Amino acid sequence: MKRIAVLTSGGDAPGMNAAIRAVVRKAMFHGLEVYGIQYGYAGLLKKDIKKMELGSVGDIIQRGGTSLYTARCKEFFQHEVRVEAVKILKELGIDGLVVIGGDGSYRGALELTKLGVPCIGIPGTIDNDILGTEFTIGFDTALNTAIEAIDKIRDTAMSHERTYVIEVMGRNCGDLAIWAGVTAGAETVIIPERKSDINETVAKIVRGHERGKKHSIIIVAEGAGNAFEVGKQIEERTGYETRVTVLGHVQRGGTPSAMDRMLATRFGNNLVYYGFEEALRLEPHVDLGLAKLCDELSI
Ligand code: ADP
Repeated sequence: MKRIAVLTSGGDAPGMNAAIRAVVRKAMFHGLEVYGIQYGYAGLLKKDIKKMELGSVGDIIQRGGTSLYTARCKEFFQHEVRVEAVKILKELGIDGLVVIGGDGSYRGALELTKLGVPCIGIPGTIDNDILGTEFTIGFDTALNTAIEAIDKIRDTAMSHERTYVIEVMGRNCGDLAIWAGVTAGAETVIIPERKSDINETVAKIVRGHERGKKHSIIIVAEGAGNAFEVGKQIEERTGYETRVTVLGHVQRGGTPSAMDRMLATRFGNNLVYYGFEEALRLEPHVDLGLAKLCDELSI
């Protein structure tokens, strides 16, 4: 194995840049050439590929988004298109591909692997919906963004004695809602993984009012229903003034937290090692440990 490529795909997540940086540095440490594919699978099909050097990943660790850009690519669902992608990779002499993205990007990577291109997936998504890892890159930053916003809304909720329904992201996964709800002190969380009953939610809010708490925060995961409908139902049934805020894409951007930068760095470092271990004829190992990680990333 001499040459690998890296791409970011699907929804961006803070910390993707730290992962790109680690992949490039680690691969170069082992004498590999690294190519960066811009705009995910769409860029691969257009051969939007550039050689990466150490300088290509300088000054990016602290930035949100992805310096390789990202895209969604409908054509990639077609077998013939993926065969074309494999042909392009082979023409360019690329022996392995690192895909940084969410579950959809992983599915694409799996299909490419089946067609003979070894792929490594690095879980980069704020949704925390990838099996096999406790946390995905971007989740911690998104969570902190969400609770900062919820804390601010709580000030207004308290001052005006209102109920606020706040929708957080997460696609079909309720992790962001649960973590935000628990750490921001919400009355309840409405998530796809649990059947929710509007009567119970209303009863909780009413119980709070009866013991003197005149404001409430309800967190709704985007995959669990319509926050505006929840707000309408609450206001109609309780008569309490209720407002709805959808936090939206503010949760996707921003400076990655230290935890996300470290997680991304460790994923980049360890996964290049594990994924291409055989091809690189490396000694098998259990865990690199942080001191070794610093050596291998030339830190
Ligand atoms: P994420 O990776 O953030 O979950 P998406 O679900 O939009 O984002 O997936 C990103 C891209 O991965 C899609 O636009 C498509 O190109 C590719 N992809 C997703 N699912 C598949 C699949 N089943 N087969 C092949 N490619 C897929």
